[in-house]
Amino acid sequence: MTKHTITPPAAPILGDAYVCDCGEDLPSRMSAEVHAAETGQCSVCLGSAQEPVAPGFVPELTRDCTACAGTGRRREQVVWQLAHAEAEQLITLSVVRDVVAGIDGPFHLSEVADAVRAGLGLQTGRLPVGPRVRDLLLRLQASGEITMLSAPDELLAGTDVVLYRDPQWQRARTLGT
Ligand SMILES: [Zn+2]
Ligand SMILES: [Zn+2]
Repeated sequence: MTKHTITPPAAPILGDAYVCDCGEDLPSRMSAEVHAAETGQCSVCLGSAQEPVAPGFVPELTRDCTACAGTGRRREQVVWQLAHAEAEQLITLSVVRDVVAGIDGPFHLSEVADAVRAGLGLQTGRLPVGPRVRDLLLRLQASGEITMLSAPDELLAGTDVVLYRDPQWQRARTLGT
């Protein structure tokens, strides 16, 4: 069996050419993505199962690819894409708002995600509940309904890129406090 290990350009300034172990010429990011999909690999991480945490800033800092759940495989990527779409349909802004409304003090992302998962009767690991809930909490934050209390866990590239592991928020107008 031919191995299709795709290697990104070593020095991006010299061109955007990827190489694959099978010898296929991959002159652009797009052709590398197509080749990854054709050979059963995730088209986001190109089969490496890793993705940069802060692309363009700290390329050597990576985490498990979120598109394929760290497997590097196309099949998992497709399954996970469907799971993301399902989570988006199931977990709406009002679901998250209701959970937040029932909490008096400050709350962590993980607490809201657990409450949403329990409320919808979802098994752990079946749907990407955490990322979806985080997106919706950030929307509530943008509209001023909640305020973020956490300081970032890590600062990357100065203060341009920050990382939060399990951020904490509080409702903007909590009665009686
Ligand atoms: Zn190949
Ligand atoms: Zn991937």
